[in-house]
Amino acid sequence: MTGAFADEILVGGRWRQGTGEPLETRSPATGEVLAVLRGAGAADVDEAVRAGAVAAADPGWRDLLPHERARHLVRIADLIAEHAGDLAALQTADTGKSINETRALVASAQGTFRYVAAALETMEGALTPPRGPYLTMSVHEPIGVVGAITPWNSPIASDAQKIAPALAGGNAVVLKPAEWTPLVSLALGRLIMDAGLPPGLLSVLPGPGAVTGDALVRHPGVGKVSFTGGTATGRAIGAVAAQKIMPVSLELGGKSPTIVFPDADREQALAGLLFGVFSSSGQSCVAGSRVFVHDSIYEEFVSELVRRAGKLRVGPGTDPATQVAPMAAHAHRDRVAAMVDRAREAGARVRCGGRAPEGEAYERGAYYLPTILDGVPNDAPICQEEVFGPVLVALPFADEDDLVAQANASVYGLACGIWTGDYRTAWRVARRIEAGTVWINTYKQFSISTPFGGMKDSGLGREKGREGILGYMRQKSVYWGLDDSPLPWAG
Ligand code: NDP
Repeated sequence: MTGAFADEILVGGRWRQGTGEPLETRSPATGEVLAVLRGAGAADVDEAVRAGAVAAADPGWRDLLPHERARHLVRIADLIAEHAGDLAALQTADTGKSINETRALVASAQGTFRYVAAALETMEGALTPPRGPYLTMSVHEPIGVVGAITPWNSPIASDAQKIAPALAGGNAVVLKPAEWTPLVSLALGRLIMDAGLPPGLLSVLPGPGAVTGDALVRHPGVGKVSFTGGTATGRAIGAVAAQKIMPVSLELGGKSPTIVFPDADREQALAGLLFGVFSSSGQSCVAGSRVFVHDSIYEEFVSELVRRAGKLRVGPGTDPATQVAPMAAHAHRDRVAAMVDRAREAGARVRCGGRAPEGEAYERGAYYLPTILDGVPNDAPICQEEVFGPVLVALPFADEDDLVAQANASVYGLACGIWTGDYRTAWRVARRIEAGTVWINTYKQFSISTPFGGMKDSGLGREKGREGILGYMRQKSVYWGLDDSPLPWAG
């Protein structure tokens, strides 16, 4: 892997400086500048999309058979595996995340390329029942150039989740990573090109969303945008897609409920809840950030949760013992702190945390303590707005109907966790909650083979699974006449 701290971006197969504004990426643990690079401007987007269109149309890529294209994906997976340690360390440096988490994210990226390669080899079209003297079939074809836009919380995993199926579908990809965390996406770009992908099929264009991202979405040569990020940005991208009549997939925010019934296994529920909301310092779209606890055990359970949250190890991402690492940027930490302060002013009880940790070790980093709040109703802003930080709000519920009404009273519908010893309760509630993913007696576990996506304001479309590749393809129907005589028309 060359250039761990790259100062060049990948534009249409060439590594060079961007033509946009300088981008400074800082260590969230120390505030130090890690790299300054010239980001991509609109001209770079145009060059990348044009090069992508040429590369995608080249018979050397367009006409590859699925098993041949799969070989590229396997080679990429092999290189990710070979450089796993460097990639994890780089992502920890750039995002602040704990090294255990970034190792898992690198493993996930590698697994994504392998899974998609295998799935690609098994993709099938359909020979549909004909209604006349012809064969009818349904096949899938590449779109052309796909724009992929990713956020800063888990770059390598979210990049892989878009690049792998988009390449499998026979497309070129222009990736726009978040400006706060471009380094691992650029390193991934280097590995993908080192794996022998034909030039032009991948561009990596860090730059401000409002400039680089917007130019990518609007570019007439982009045939699909796959976006992961905040709901407001997703809505704006969806509006442009509607104008272009362009398919778009949107993986957006959440305010996911986790539910504790009185018959839940306490140890499992406590551990699952803490992991579900405080891992990744809460910077996770599926963070279980609202916990509903049955009235009969509320005080006892929440007190124990608070006691254990106070014991979580807060520290630098480089320490393998760290559970709660710094947030991705100081500005983001300040935003989270301001949301908690507003909740406190509005009457929320701060049961633990509610501030940055004290001491020299934490002074320069974007740290925030695991925080649990309660004493506010479900319609309070802190219960409705995505905080995207280590902040949990606890709420009591009286019975199942009350619970379902409260849990569903949210614009979001991304995920849900249910802790109960009764399989009938689990099934009933799982089916009643509006969420794209439900975890029962576990939380924040993922499989690349299982579709992922949101309901309501949490998004549109699904990633992962075998169908994930079809999301990057266009469907075509073919009627193949077999009759010896002409149609009864021309005499
Ligand atoms: P943003 O929506 O601000 O940014 C996401 C990406 O979009 C970034 O690359 C950003 O660029 C880019 N962007 C910003 N504005 C535009 C625009 N006008 N046009 C095109 N691209 C644009 O989200 P955050 O960075 O704050 O990420 C956190 C959000 O992502 C949370 O809401 C979280 O829930 C969600 N998320 C959802 C996931 C899911 O699978 N459902 C998974 C992970 C996160 P830049 O940053 O460079 O400005």
